[in-house]
Amino acid sequence: MKFTDIDIISFHKKPVKEVKSDWVVIVGNPNSGKTAIFNRLTGMHGKVGNYPGVTVEKKTGMLRGSEILVRDLPGSYSLNPRSLDEQIVADTVQSWRFTEERPRAILVVVDSTNLARNLYLTLQVSEFGVPTILVLNMMDEAGKRGLFINMELLKELLGIHQVVSVSAKYGQGIPELIRSIEKVAEEDFSAVREPRMDTSDPGHIPLQKLTEILDSYRDRLGIPSLVESMRLVADDNYIKYLRPLLFPEEINEITREIESARNGFKAQGFSYQALESNARYKFIDLILEKVIRREQDLQKSFSEKIDNILTHHIWGPVSLVLILGFIFNAIFSWAEAPMQWITSAVAWTAGRADLILPAGPLKSLIVNGIISGVGNVIVFLPQIMLLVFFISLLEDSGYMARMAFIMDKLMGKIGLQGKSVLPMLSGFACAIPAVMAARTIENWQDRLKTILLIPLMSCSARLPVYVLLISAFIPHKTVLGFLQLQSVVLMGIYFLGFFTAVAGSAMVKKFASRKKRSQFIMEMPPYRLPLMRSVGWKIYNSTKLFLVNAGSIILAISVIMWFLASYPAPAKESSLTSRERVEQSYAGQMGHAMEPLIKPLGFDWKMGVGLISSFAAREVLVSSFATIYNIQDDDGSGNVPLIQAMREDRYADGRAVFTPLVAISLMVFFVYAAQCMSTFAIVRRETNSWRWPLVMVGYMNVLAFSASFIVFHGGKLFGLG
Ligand code: GDP
Ligand code: MG
Repeated sequence: MKFTDIDIISFHKKPVKEVKSDWVVIVGNPNSGKTAIFNRLTGMHGKVGNYPGVTVEKKTGMLRGSEILVRDLPGSYSLNPRSLDEQIVADTVQSWRFTEERPRAILVVVDSTNLARNLYLTLQVSEFGVPTILVLNMMDEAGKRGLFINMELLKELLGIHQVVSVSAKYGQGIPELIRSIEKVAEEDFSAVREPRMDTSDPGHIPLQKLTEILDSYRDRLGIPSLVESMRLVADDNYIKYLRPLLFPEEINEITREIESARNGFKAQGFSYQALESNARYKFIDLILEKVIRREQDLQKSFSEKIDNILTHHIWGPVSLVLILGFIFNAIFSWAEAPMQWITSAVAWTAGRADLILPAGPLKSLIVNGIISGVGNVIVFLPQIMLLVFFISLLEDSGYMARMAFIMDKLMGKIGLQGKSVLPMLSGFACAIPAVMAARTIENWQDRLKTILLIPLMSCSARLPVYVLLISAFIPHKTVLGFLQLQSVVLMGIYFLGFFTAVAGSAMVKKFASRKKRSQFIMEMPPYRLPLMRSVGWKIYNSTKLFLVNAGSIILAISVIMWFLASYPAPAKESSLTSRERVEQSYAGQMGHAMEPLIKPLGFDWKMGVGLISSFAAREVLVSSFATIYNIQDDDGSGNVPLIQAMREDRYADGRAVFTPLVAISLMVFFVYAAQCMSTFAIVRRETNSWRWPLVMVGYMNVLAFSASFIVFHGGKLFGLG
């Protein structure tokens, strides 16, 4: 079975296939715990996060101990779509009206502590004739807040097939949920298709005729006519869902009647946009009054108390900077010991290899190329793990949503909306999921802008480069009494990308006049203790990715780099020093050829070669340096510590190759340069054109060159060279 189509029309044209296995689907509001439930049901490990927009792709897995497939859909508040995510959900659900490939059941996951909003989608999807299981998630929280839900009554009033209460976080109720899924999948049951809304409003009169017409096609249309007429009147696009089901003349008749219904509403002075939501919320209020019993609310006041400080207009930003400062500091200090261990292990391995292998090209390849290239990169694994650890904590605890909120306030009228902030923040881990998370942004222009700015966030692949340069060239001292200069510089480098994105966006706003900025409507999820299991998975995955990269791309480039830096081999009796030999190697020639381009940035030929290689993956810069320096400084004593070699490197006239200024210029280059092919590909996919990835690469590299140029020459003017 294939689930990639969101295009209704192509869905429709496909011949009805034999459905190979039963499947059920998970829908629900963003942040209601769908992915957590999906993971529990399937034993898989999707990304869980405490903010909207984490699930942007459809995911499929097998229900534990069973033959039933489970699909996780993106989060959605309603079937009247306002964003691409919601469009995907609405199109998917609507498509079940005209294919035989429909799910055996819909699991609607709701946040029990916020039923009023969550039941909206529940009511909408339950009208499609597919048995609906209402999954009351977060019962642990509901319990803490003194919230009691009468499940039997709720089931009856909603006219829904099953109501199950669970806590995905603690795994409570999951076996019961699995059992009811299996039970529903076995039954041959078609749910009733009655409107779940308040149908008594006298203001609905202009809909009568349209509803009657739809009623006469009811056996083909499937869902309640009143609901459909409200949507047709409110939304011009909605008719596309009827086209596959009716004949053109019938569509024409309906289109005409939509117009006259609208005129009817206008004549009454009645807005027809909110017909459905008014009728639904009235119904929901009625139900909730009967099924919810409240004791005092402990949890909410807890989150509110914390937020009094953390989202305060002054203390909010202050604590944000303190938290980030702590994180960047921890990345340095906590990683120190494990880095030492890895360094010693690499040095030990190199020493062994040096002893065992006979002198010659093979030994040089293994010691200078492979061990030193790969070894110098995996040294940064502890930092990457720490970074991912902290980003996951920020996401899962709910603080990331506050960060977005605070930044949104800070950025004020800068033309970036709150919804852009979250994808941008997650760009600090990796641009690829971040670009996909931009799908939650409704407005295409805003979304495009966000996508193009995300790669300015320093992703984790840049961390090794920063840490290497900072550890080598930024003095290890304390400033302002308690801050480490090194972590301050690291934080500054991270902020640089972020603020450049903000400034860029402000500039775009100046030139492209836009309608009013959409408001920040993301709601604050309550603070939650992060699931250690989910945090652990994120760390595991990024570790795996990093090591796989180290074992493939970085290994390959190290070998290539070793070759380029060792050949052409000089004649045996040549009197050249190893340094002169490297300069005359292929790598040296390449680097020297680049000099006119990079010299103005303060870079020497080795950095030029490093830059070329870093287009394969940014962290390769480190391994390229390691390889070149190892060959250059090879005096037969084995492995040379990279940092020491870089510090001691001199031009022919005795000037240091690396100064703090050169290091900063190089880091600034890495903040801005577009070097990641995978980002390029994902931007191409998400914008569906080559134009935008090209624009991205163009502007970023121009920015990288100019910024490094300015930093280097500006710094020299101020005597910092
Ligand atoms: P989705 O957006 O609907 O896929 O939601 P996620 O599965 O990403 O979960 C959103 C947040 O809610 C995460 O921080 C989860 O750890 C948390 N969460 C999920 N289920 C529960 C639950 O049953 N109880 C509590 N307390 N938190 C939960
Ligand atoms: Mg999700």
